[in-house]
Amino acid sequence: MKVQRVVTPPLAANSYVVGSAMIDCGGDAEFILRYLSENKLINKIRYLLLTHAHFDHAGAYFALQNIGSTVGIHSKDIEISRKQPLAHGMLLFTPVNPDVVFKGGETLEIGRAKLKVIHTPGHSPGSVCYYDEDRKWLFSGDTVFSHGGFGRVDLPGGNAYELVSSLKKLTELDVEMLYPGHDEIVEEKANLEIKKAYEVARRILI
Ligand SMILES: [Zn+2]
Repeated sequence: MKVQRVVTPPLAANSYVVGSAMIDCGGDAEFILRYLSENKLINKIRYLLLTHAHFDHAGAYFALQNIGSTVGIHSKDIEISRKQPLAHGMLLFTPVNPDVVFKGGETLEIGRAKLKVIHTPGHSPGSVCYYDEDRKWLFSGDTVFSHGGFGRVDLPGGNAYELVSSLKKLTELDVEMLYPGHDEIVEEKANLEIKKAYEVARRILI
């Protein structure tokens, strides 16, 4: 099983194709539909798993739902999206109307892969990571990035304490490959990058 990365407009969020699932979809419906069609994926994608409801990751979700994908997201990001908080005058959260609501702790079977939903609040209240324990893959959304980077906590719904404790939770996993919501993929020893992020975050955020 391979992971395909798609860098999506408008803010260069990473979206990933993993078998019949897509993890995040970016904010431009026309772009993602064109990508799926050019890569003969329109009839293949059955699930859209969102890491959080920020518009740059989830804005195009309805396009995937319209072609028959089951859309899943954590309940806390649905709640906050209904309050429609603004960031810099823009609507920050997409009011996603999902087919499946996660609480954290679920295991999703996507073809031969099993993805565990890990609730990692901090960047947003309902941020999640998707973890494949067998392959040691972590799809981390905006919680943790390559080079020890981590998500911002100053947007509505962000919380520094929660982010630090989410990063701590991630240091307890065995992760080889990190697929973050922005920037580059980490292809080996991602554990070290996550530890670095946790060490820096706990010093400067709290
Ligand atoms: Zn975000």
